[in-house]
Amino acid sequence: MFEFWRRRKLARHAFADRDWEAVCARLPLLAWLDEAGRQRLRETATLFLADKILAPAAGFSLQPRQRIEIAIAAALPVLHLGLGAYRSFRGVIVYPDEFLAPREEVDEAGVVHTGHERVAGESWDAGPMLLSWADVEASREAEGYHVVIHECAHKLDLGDGDMNGVPDLSGSGVSGAEWRRVMTDAWERTGADWDAYGETEVDDYALESPAEFFAVLSEHFFTIPEHLHEVLPEAYSLLARFYRQDPLLGQHA
Ligand SMILES: [Zn+2]
Repeated sequence: MFEFWRRRKLARHAFADRDWEAVCARLPLLAWLDEAGRQRLRETATLFLADKILAPAAGFSLQPRQRIEIAIAAALPVLHLGLGAYRSFRGVIVYPDEFLAPREEVDEAGVVHTGHERVAGESWDAGPMLLSWADVEASREAEGYHVVIHECAHKLDLGDGDMNGVPDLSGSGVSGAEWRRVMTDAWERTGADWDAYGETEVDDYALESPAEFFAVLSEHFFTIPEHLHEVLPEAYSLLARFYRQDPLLGQHA
């Protein structure tokens, strides 16, 4: 982006200091960022709100601090990737609570059944991100769960056109083969734990699909980095290279 337009957008959409500080104070997941990291996060979150349309749904209304909180969480994963990584979507629809997402299933006879499922967040291939505000609030304590980071990971996964657990790796220095090797190994270890003990070191929702595995590991990477580093160190290092940041070191990777 041309520097002139960037500066102009930043000035036009600037957050009030008191709102920025109040929101940051309730997000322990920002504790590891240094002053430069926080400044970069503030600019990225400001530009996120300038570029995206946050629309409340189902009778909800969004206050400025709620918008900032969503923008901060969305800005964190792309702090060193840039907002271009989110070019596949423009809208963020925010429901007050869990909402009903349409589902379609084909049974063995080939009959299509349509229905709904209650969800906290959702990302469609070519469409907006959908979030439940109650779940954004529940993500504040950041203990392995973060609905915004989860949905943002799905959007990054779509960066190469497919939601298949492999994001656009260009510029990361990680090859597709290396990504698949490390993630398949982590997936198999997690699956073996599930088969042996009925529990896993990471949220077992990860085992739904390779796309969910990447999204759940991304949530853990940003919210409980020590834990992820301990249980799946290779996957942790891979994510640090992809995101170009390392929450354990508190710096640009
Ligand atoms: Zn998901």
